[in-house]
Amino acid sequence: MDRDDLVRYLDAYLRIQDFPQDPSLNGLQVEGKRTVRKVGAAVDAGEAIFRKALEEGVDFLIVHHGLFWGKPFPIVGHHKRRLETLFAGGINLYAAHLPLDAHEEVGNNFVLARELGLVDLTPWDVGVKGRFPQPTPLLQVADRLGQLTGMQPLVHQGGLDHVETVILVSGSGTGLLPKVDADLFVTGEPKHSVFHETFERGLNVIYAGHYDTETFGVKALAAHLEAKFGLPWVFLDHPTGL
Ligand SMILES: [Zn+2]
Repeated sequence: MDRDDLVRYLDAYLRIQDFPQDPSLNGLQVEGKRTVRKVGAAVDAGEAIFRKALEEGVDFLIVHHGLFWGKPFPIVGHHKRRLETLFAGGINLYAAHLPLDAHEEVGNNFVLARELGLVDLTPWDVGVKGRFPQPTPLLQVADRLGQLTGMQPLVHQGGLDHVETVILVSGSGTGLLPKVDADLFVTGEPKHSVFHETFERGLNVIYAGHYDTETFGVKALAAHLEAKFGLPWVFLDHPTGL
């Protein structure tokens, strides 16, 4: 498939222009080969991931966390090596940060919410709000999240044993905790500063891993591209444990 056609499709499908608040430079960040034969999906941009992409013959790599976050920096040291690896393989690098958190078909939050069994899903900031069909034990939700992510989640129970309404914000969502109005808030990465607020407000929070809550979007997006354009894809797993 022609790279520019693929980029145009992705920019429109993910509504890349609709997230001006995103510090990520979303879209095609590094240009590689003109013809795309194999797609790679990964959470992060880094030399180890780029090397895996090179070994796998990926020529179009989609990442959630790209290389550029609104601040200029010189292309020296590890930055140079990252780009050298991409250039060596003619690998196109495409980043989708908040657009791939919020997307209602392939976004991290809607995909994870469906896997978790939530219904009545509505957008909530870049995440999603939904509910279980009936009140569900908090620890059962934590177990299910652990099965889905492969990582033992951290449970801070400040509220009820059974939960119905849930807000899910993948990655680093604690900044949104003050706005949470649900029985349970699920996010990725814990932050010490919200510990006491959680219990004082009677909230339940499950931390299911920053990396581990953000594998869903890139995988769903790559699977969508395969279904739509017949492009084979591979997930390049590089867990951070965070
Ligand atoms: Zn993230």
